[in-house]
Amino acid sequence: MRTLETGDGLRVRSKGAVNDDRTDRPGTTAAADRLGIVPFDAGGGPVVGIGECDRRLEESIQNGPTSILWDLFGSCNLRCPACASGAMPAVNAKGLIVDEQFHRILNKLHGESSCRQLHFYNWSEPLLHPRIVQYCRVASDLGFHVHLSSNLNRLRDAEGLLDAGVKTLRVSLSGFTQEVYEKGHRGGDVELVKANMHRLRDARRRTGSNTRLQVYYLKYRHNLHEVSLMRQFAENLGFTFASDWAFYTPLERMFEYVEGGLSAADRRFADEAIVPAMSSAVALMQGRRHRSCEAVNQLVLDWQGNVMLCCALYSRAMAGLGRHQQLNWRRIQEMRYGHEICSKCMHYGVHVLYMHYHVPELRAAMEDLAEASLTQEQQEGGDERTPTVGLGVRGGYSPKEATP
Ligand code: SF4
Ligand code: SF4
Repeated sequence: MRTLETGDGLRVRSKGAVNDDRTDRPGTTAAADRLGIVPFDAGGGPVVGIGECDRRLEESIQNGPTSILWDLFGSCNLRCPACASGAMPAVNAKGLIVDEQFHRILNKLHGESSCRQLHFYNWSEPLLHPRIVQYCRVASDLGFHVHLSSNLNRLRDAEGLLDAGVKTLRVSLSGFTQEVYEKGHRGGDVELVKANMHRLRDARRRTGSNTRLQVYYLKYRHNLHEVSLMRQFAENLGFTFASDWAFYTPLERMFEYVEGGLSAADRRFADEAIVPAMSSAVALMQGRRHRSCEAVNQLVLDWQGNVMLCCALYSRAMAGLGRHQQLNWRRIQEMRYGHEICSKCMHYGVHVLYMHYHVPELRAAMEDLAEASLTQEQQEGGDERTPTVGLGVRGGYSPKEATP
């Protein structure tokens, strides 16, 4: 596998460093200068990302966020190997948001932008919060379109949840039988998930709820033969069904992957389970890394009220931008556009990998790669070629925005 070396054209500027030669680089803009962004020049290749900086930054400031991703709970009950919550549980503080902070943040969100797409999840299991029903109700009453994505191993109050004005409740899973499911959803019980799906179906009948119930099947190399079983099961219960390739998270581990720093066990799982093969996906995205990043229009909050650089990063120490209470959207965007992690991410092209769902050409290219990396038998066991809705391994990322 080809790995990218940090010295391979990568120029990450440390805060406050002086960059004497940036003005004569193509694509350098006034905004880049103002924000202290150093464009990469990977051995004569395209300057990454910076060319559109002025327009993109001003547009994003004017338009405000397109979606809000907000963890109300600080952890998950499962340990999925492809997910940061599952594989790096000790990195961030654990806990849950309390009423006073929830209302303060919600009111600020409501008052300072017209964005109403509110996803109560990013790296956590939202149904673990004991007040999730009340919080969904309050947010819906304020006019937010509330979306949830859950592993559904825990469901306290099915009727309350379906009566809380939630637009979408997505069940994220990766198999039909326990033997297959637990490889991707480690620590989970698929029979419990199915029983809870029955409860949701019954609760929807009783409440007359308009909440859209959806199963989102994360495809790995080992679970393609069970896609159609789960599709049938879900559709029989009145759930919509979507599937897409799971990918490896968070961004920190993708960096480790391309830099060769991932542990042997993590690399083995990534190489065996992820489709298309990560090395070829990264290589594909390298050729498209000049694309701008779609994630910069998301507002991402953790359960403590910290704004995160983006939904693909997990470590608050690395990606926290500050307290939401003390930041406005302009300041958040300025910090993002000048952030050295984004420069590194765009240099590797990883932002394209995470955000490819919105771009038909990229989706098609990923599907071609996937097909090429599967055996005939695996291809026949798979579902439709073009996924209905993208969502990522946890129901996450820009694909989170894809939830209408
Ligand atoms: S993928 Fe979902 S269920 Fe699995 S650890 Fe991550 S947040 Fe939890
Ligand atoms: S870290 Fe990468 S994916 Fe996240 S906002 Fe920056 S460029 Fe986009």
